[in-house]
Amino acid sequence: MLNRKYTDLLFDLDNTLIDFSDGSLKALHSFCHHYQIKDKQEFISVYHKINTQIWKEFELGTIDSTTLRSKRFADTFSKLNMKSLDPVEANATYLAFLVSHSTIDTTVKLLLERLSQKYNLHIVTNGLKEVQRARLNKIQIDSLFKTITVSDEIGFRKPQTAYFDYVFAQMDEKPLLDDVLIIGDSLHSDIQGGILYGLDTCWINNKPDTQNSLSATYTLSSVKEIETVLKPT
Ligand SMILES: [Mg+2]
Repeated sequence: MLNRKYTDLLFDLDNTLIDFSDGSLKALHSFCHHYQIKDKQEFISVYHKINTQIWKEFELGTIDSTTLRSKRFADTFSKLNMKSLDPVEANATYLAFLVSHSTIDTTVKLLLERLSQKYNLHIVTNGLKEVQRARLNKIQIDSLFKTITVSDEIGFRKPQTAYFDYVFAQMDEKPLLDDVLIIGDSLHSDIQGGILYGLDTCWINNKPDTQNSLSATYTLSSVKEIETVLKPT
């Protein structure tokens, strides 16, 4: 019998397993080059501010993913007087660059390979359907996961209970809730979602200035430390 506390590990993708901020910045640089945008810093700074606000609205459910796709570039172009560009096409261009700039830390990849020998691994992500599977495929970790659930493909997102119902429905062997741990960097999506569903939670607090307003079962500063909480007590 395996010496383990959990049978199934649910991993968030962005800013948990891979550094989304870094990949996104590189994609935006390529984007500016593609559209010959002269002041890259200004463009990226305006886009970041608008995109952060629009993702918040999306996660709260006040806008849908179709609106998210067009509005973040429409608002950026409007603010910077670049109205001749098509926001929908710009979004597709950005997403293509995002896939090509996706990378994973070798330490994290080796960690996942090791964990996949002992646990059933799953991806639980709120990302967009055009890119999430393509990014997992690009960094060659998709085969390590038993299930991959992309919110945008199913119409439910973390922290909704219906999202987790979908995740569990895809599993071949249904684990007990007590045997499942969710690991993620978002208090709103990952930790709140896990708590609402009755799972143990591991908050990846990679922005050390953030306050923990929810009671996660564990808090780590990086996913690289995950093995410290996986041993039975
Ligand atoms: Mg995340």
